[in-house]
Amino acid sequence: MAEQKVELFARRLDHGVQKAVHNNSAAGTEKRYNVLGTDYSAPDDLRRLAGQIRQHSIEYLDTYLEQAEQSLKRQGAHVHFAVTADDACRAVSDILQKAGAKKVVKSKSMISEEIHLNDHLGTMGIESVETDLGEYIIQIDGDHPSHIVKPIIHKNRRDIAKSFEREGLGDYNDDPETITRRARVFMRDKYLQADAGITGANFVSAESGRLVLVTNEGNSRFCLAAPKIHIALVGIEKVIPSDADLAVLLNLLGRSATGQQLTVYTEFINGPARTDRPSGPQEMHVIFVDNQRSEILASDCREILRCIRCGACLNVCPVYRQASGHAYRSVYPGPLGAVLSPLLAGKKFKELADLPKASSLCGACNEVCPVDIPIPDLLLKLRNRGHQEHAPSPGTPPMGAFAKLASSPMLWRFAMKSNKVMNLVPLEKLPLPYLQPWLKTRTLPTWRGGEFRSWMKSRHKK
Ligand code: SF4
Repeated sequence: MAEQKVELFARRLDHGVQKAVHNNSAAGTEKRYNVLGTDYSAPDDLRRLAGQIRQHSIEYLDTYLEQAEQSLKRQGAHVHFAVTADDACRAVSDILQKAGAKKVVKSKSMISEEIHLNDHLGTMGIESVETDLGEYIIQIDGDHPSHIVKPIIHKNRRDIAKSFEREGLGDYNDDPETITRRARVFMRDKYLQADAGITGANFVSAESGRLVLVTNEGNSRFCLAAPKIHIALVGIEKVIPSDADLAVLLNLLGRSATGQQLTVYTEFINGPARTDRPSGPQEMHVIFVDNQRSEILASDCREILRCIRCGACLNVCPVYRQASGHAYRSVYPGPLGAVLSPLLAGKKFKELADLPKASSLCGACNEVCPVDIPIPDLLLKLRNRGHQEHAPSPGTPPMGAFAKLASSPMLWRFAMKSNKVMNLVPLEKLPLPYLQPWLKTRTLPTWRGGEFRSWMKSRHKK
C-alpha cells in the first residue's frame, strides 16, 4: 500500500528543517495565545464576531464587489475582473506593456504566487523583484514559500548567507543584521528603478474603496513611493462591507499571524495621486481575481473564503509542524491549504484530494482561526468528495470489512463480546499485508468492546 504523500514527505524531510519548522510554529502559537489572552477577556467571542463579518461579506459578495468597484472608481482607480489565473496574468502584463514598463517591484502577495505571476512576467521580458525579504530569498533560490506568513520558515541564516554570496550581495556573512542591511541596499536601487509596483490587498472596503495592506517590513510602502503605476491583485473574497469592520479584523490579524497587537505597517490606500494629494503612483489598477472562487462560493465549503491568511492554523497543526509547507504541493499549506488547494484546483481536484486526509482532525485549527472557520468539518466534506469522485487514496486500507461489521448490529454485538480473542491476537500480528503500513503509524488501544453497553445497562437498572 502506497503511503500518503504528505506523510511520505514528512518522513523524508531533513531533521534540521523539521526542527526549525516545528519550533518556529510552536513559538508562533504561544505568542498568539499570550497576546490574545492578555488583551481580551473573551477572545473567542471576538473570533466569532469576525467570522460573522467575513461570512456576511461572502454571502453578499456580488453586492459588495459591485459597491467596491464603484467606490474604487470614485477614488480614481481602474478596476478589472479576471476569471482565471491566465486572465489575471494577462491583465497585469497588458497594463505594463501599454505603459512600456520593463521593471516592477512586488510586495508579498499570495494570489500572485497562486497565479504564477513572476513566471509570466519573465516570459514577457519584464523583470519582477520580490521586496519582502523572505520572498526575495525564495525568488533568488528558485524555491517556493513554505508558510503563508513566514515564507522561509524552512531556511536558516546560513542558507541565506550562502544565497546572498552566490548572488553577489557580499561575502559570506550569516549575521542577520548584515543580511538585512545588504538586502535593504539592494532593494533601494530596485525601488528607484521600477516602473510599476505590484501589491496584493488584505482587505478592500466596499464602502470607501480603501485598499488595506499590512506588512512588517514596510516594503509595500516603498513599492508605491517611486513607481508611476500601482497594480493591486485582489482575490474577490477580500472585499469587506465597511471600514468599521477593520477594527475587528485588523486587531485579530496581527495577533493571530505574528502575536503582534498590530502589524507594523498598516496602509490605507485611497486611489492614485491627485492634485490635492500629489504623492504616490499616477495610475492605480485593481484586478479582482476569481480563479475558482465563484465555484467555492457555490459549494458546501464556502466558509473557507472567510480566511484572512493569518497562518495561525499552520502554526498549531501537528501535521504541518512535522511535514512543513512543501509537503502540501501547493501555494497554501497547512489546514488552510488542505481545504483551499484542492478546491482551487478545480477540475484537477483529484490531484490534491489526498490533502484533506493530512489531518488528525484534532480541531486545533478551528480553535485558533480568527474568523472561526470550521476547518475539520470542511476536511471531512472534502474527504467525502474525494471518495465520491474515486480519487486515489494512498495510505487508506480498504474499509469494506469494517463497514460490514460496524453496520450490522448482530455482528457488532458479537465483536463486542470477543474482547479476549481480539486482545489475544493483536491486529499487527495478523497476516493482513494491506493493513500493516496503516498500523505502523497508529497505536490501537486495548480492545474494551462492550464495557460501555454494560455500564449503560447497569445505570438503566438503577
Ligand atoms: S484558515 Fe483561519 S487560521 Fe488558517 S490562515 Fe485562514 S484565517 Fe488564519
